[in-house]
Amino acid sequence: MEYDQNNVFAKILRGDLPCDKVYEDDFALAFRDINPQAPVHVLVIPKGPYVSIDEFSADATADEQAGLMRAIGATARELGLTGGGYRVLANKGRDAHQEVMHLHFHIFAGRPLGPMLEDGALPPGTNYRRS
Ligand code: 5GP
Repeated sequence: MEYDQNNVFAKILRGDLPCDKVYEDDFALAFRDINPQAPVHVLVIPKGPYVSIDEFSADATADEQAGLMRAIGATARELGLTGGGYRVLANKGRDAHQEVMHLHFHIFAGRPLGPMLEDGALPPGTNYRRS
């Protein structure tokens, strides 16, 4: 998918929109989500123009990829989350309800986070294919 330079996270990276920054290095920026779903809800984004994890893993340099992974862990440490725990999640595309077309990892923490998916495990034999 072609990268849109006018998505909100591109604007935050350029300084055209403000953000509540919690961590930054050469490869990544972390800031608080504007509509938090948990007491701690932070987004970690690469500084390069990537829409999704599959494109990032195919096209980003090894330094960018390592840098983003390091930044996710550094952000969790910076926020003091390593004791109580946290969840890291990245949405891609329609089925995952991706809203902002710049790769981002959500970090959720600060309360019990419930099952991994809203509807939990489906019964054995469930057909997941689209009709
Ligand atoms: P997605 O559904 O794409 O995985 O998540 C996008 C996230 O970005 C949402 O949780 C939404 O609240 C957050 N978001 C959207 N616009 C802004 C913004 O302008 N600033 C910040 N800090 N977060 C935003």
